[in-house]
Amino acid sequence: MNVYIYASNIWCEECGKAIHERIMSKMAFNSDDFPKGPYPDGGGESDSPQHCAAGPDCLNAIEFDDGVKIGAWLENKLTEKGIKYVNNAITKGSEISEMWADYYRDYCNINKEGKNEETTTKENTRPLDSQ
Ligand SMILES: [Zn+2]
Repeated sequence: MNVYIYASNIWCEECGKAIHERIMSKMAFNSDDFPKGPYPDGGGESDSPQHCAAGPDCLNAIEFDDGVKIGAWLENKLTEKGIKYVNNAITKGSEISEMWADYYRDYCNINKEGKNEETTTKENTRPLDSQ
């Protein structure tokens, strides 16, 4: 997802544009006090999953079953620290961590622990009647 950087936070593309337009309508064009972007890939690798800084007011807010809203997930990649962070959150268990598990399944090898397939070459060379 493309994101905007503004006021030391990252915002989803729609919120970034909305802030941009809101500020632009109030002041002259010569200010650089408005969201800069869009930047690709959720602003790049981070130590945790990034969500739009608008939070519950995000134009793309994610709403959970209990009515709690959070900012749009920005589809950022994770650093090694970030992968640990997500895995920890999943171990603790929460609605948001389930969502992250879904988003980062391929990325973090989450939910793949059950299948620890090692090459069984040694066992295969054993004579059949030894078992
Ligand atoms: Zn947003």
